[in-house]
Amino acid sequence: MQKKLIVGNWKMNKTPAEAAIFVRALQKNVGAANEVDLVLCPPFTALAAVYNITSGSNIILGAQNVYWEDSGAYTGEVSAAMLKEAGCKYVIIGHSERRKYFGETNETVNKKLRSALNVELIPILCIGEGLTERENGEAFRVVEDHLREGLNEISKEEMQGVVIAYEPVWAIGTGKVATTNEAKEIHLLIYELLDKIYGKNISSSTRVIYGGSVTPENISSLLDESEISGVLVGGASLKADSFSQIIVRSVK
Ligand code: PEP
Repeated sequence: MQKKLIVGNWKMNKTPAEAAIFVRALQKNVGAANEVDLVLCPPFTALAAVYNITSGSNIILGAQNVYWEDSGAYTGEVSAAMLKEAGCKYVIIGHSERRKYFGETNETVNKKLRSALNVELIPILCIGEGLTERENGEAFRVVEDHLREGLNEISKEEMQGVVIAYEPVWAIGTGKVATTNEAKEIHLLIYELLDKIYGKNISSSTRVIYGGSVTPENISSLLDESEISGVLVGGASLKADSFSQIIVRSVK
């Protein structure tokens, strides 16, 4: 069975010094933690600090965002090749906070996905409906639009290197986790859509992870579902204790 994928998204938190303290504590708490694939996504400014400590270990480095151009006059942006050379293996793309605060659309998300795949970075494509959309019965449609448009012109071969994160916006940072049934229903929809887009069996090799108020208390019931290949953790990934507990409980 494939290992569960546990991703910590620190958002705009932790200086390089704070990141180093966190990683040392995490390593002490969870030791080898070889039974899961563990990814940390610090802010750009802490990538080097985390890389210096984790390089060669089982902790994998990821970034929270990428720009789609290779280089040029794009003040403040960072390219996929830059992330790769900084030691990243993963990059989060299309997080709902980027869609909400920075105007990202399915089209720009798709360009970012393309640029990550071009340098063999593994994109974690975030998709998911907002509260009003869920209440209006539009969750399936939103998830389908995010998925189809985000994956536009991404080939079946390239799909092998893509992770999908189902993150219902109403569950992110709210303390309101989706029930396992709610999460499972959408994960099944995503697998079904992937098979429709790419042909049968693509879904068996694609990881679909869940994100939204994951804690040490709810991790076990989420990961008991075979359809949930892992988790994307925001708030609870900021404290070494809570994140360590999530990791430990992910392998039980
Ligand atoms: C996230 O940032 O992707 C996230 C899921 O945040 P939280 O765990 O805090 O809800």
